[in-house]
Amino acid sequence: SLSDRLTATFKNLRGKGKLTEADVDATVREIRRALLDADVAVPVVREFTAAVKERALGAEVNEALNPAQLIVKIVNTQLQEILGGETRRIRMAKSGPTVIMLAGLQGAGKTTLAGKLGNWLKSQGHRPLLVASDLQRPNAVTQLQVVGDRAGVPVWAPHPGTTSEFDDPTGDPVQVARDGVAHARAKLFDVVIVDTAGRLGVDQALMAQARDIRDAVDPQEVLFVIDAMIGQDAVQTAQAFNEGVDFTGVVLSKLDGDARGGAALSVASVTGKPIMFASTGEGVKDFEQFHPDRMASRILDMGDVLTLIEQAEQNWDRAEAQKMAQKFADQEDFTFDDFLVQMQQLKKMGSMKKLLGMMPGMAGMREQIEAFDESSIGRIEAIIRSMTPHERAAPKILNGSRRARIAKGSGATVSEVNQLMERFMQAQKMMKKMAQGKGIPGMPGGMP
Ligand code: GDP
Ligand code: MG
Repeated sequence: SLSDRLTATFKNLRGKGKLTEADVDATVREIRRALLDADVAVPVVREFTAAVKERALGAEVNEALNPAQLIVKIVNTQLQEILGGETRRIRMAKSGPTVIMLAGLQGAGKTTLAGKLGNWLKSQGHRPLLVASDLQRPNAVTQLQVVGDRAGVPVWAPHPGTTSEFDDPTGDPVQVARDGVAHARAKLFDVVIVDTAGRLGVDQALMAQARDIRDAVDPQEVLFVIDAMIGQDAVQTAQAFNEGVDFTGVVLSKLDGDARGGAALSVASVTGKPIMFASTGEGVKDFEQFHPDRMASRILDMGDVLTLIEQAEQNWDRAEAQKMAQKFADQEDFTFDDFLVQMQQLKKMGSMKKLLGMMPGMAGMREQIEAFDESSIGRIEAIIRSMTPHERAAPKILNGSRRARIAKGSGATVSEVNQLMERFMQAQKMMKKMAQGKGIPGMPGGMP
């Protein structure tokens, strides 16, 4: 697997502090192979690895990750970005029914999806209607009715109630779609899902029909359904449908199979359209919103590697925290510089009040928390910055004349400087206690 191959690559690179071009090439080579194994289209692989290489060479090596791990992290981020980052929701019409049209090759899973989408929308409180605009294939309308029954969602068909005429190949799918939407409007269905015909291969008549349906019903969403098993053909098919009907989102079907999901990357990469849903079986509930992060690790088959990377980063954080705790354990070592660093960290964390409110064991301090003034952090910073390095490191030498000078330099009053000195001493004590295991480390006592 890619995990094994990358782990082997990591071994050779371990201990190196810098990304050389050769390191990057070695790792990128493995990633290229993994993408091809996952059936990502060749031109997409080429473009993708070039982008990764560029990012990797420009990346700063941090202490938590070795160079190869860093590249994998870059790859993962890049994959997620192309796959859409976050899931996009269905756009709803401002008034009248929202129309969702399905397009794709025959067998892609459109009719099955109509039922799943309908069921899902219903569970969210909508009133969906399925519309049978596939009049091409024998039994297509009947199939949609079976699907609708199973999902508990009504179906609009050419001649409702008379199944024998449903499969009339001379019927007009554009008219059916138009009538279906009109019916939805009249009967207050709020979402219309229009099922359409597909061919085994892309053909112009089919595309023209899909375009006509689109123009007739002006859908909020045109979802392109594609079989995840389609492999290298994904690019060509997606491009044809993108040009033909200019779809707004992608649904990846048959993800329950053993396809590694390369089609997802190919389609997202060449069309720039978001993948919105994943279809994961024949049942009406085998359906979920698309998760770029899961797909990224599926494509690269590197769940293990990502876990390792996460652990490495966590360990590094822990080592830093321990260094700090050690420092607090020794009262002499805790200086105004440490105090300043802590202040800045607190500021980074956002609202002090919110932060303190979330911490367990702080209930007894509610009054002090309410009284906390965040702007005081800025004044404290100004005072500390007016101290000399020697004074910051050895606060004991801060006698009256030094305090007066600092007050003048920072625009504070002497009594404010005195107050800060007191708080600093308290912080020292608190840090010492916390370092002995009596509380949460990393919290200064610098609250007025
Ligand atoms: P359409 O021609 O695009 O309407 O495709 P269908 O909805 O008729 O599906 C074609 C076949 O694929 C049917 O046998 C479905 O049961 C099956 N199918 C559809 N979606 C999935 C899926 O997500 N997983 C699996 N395993 N089968 C699916
Ligand atoms: Mg169908």
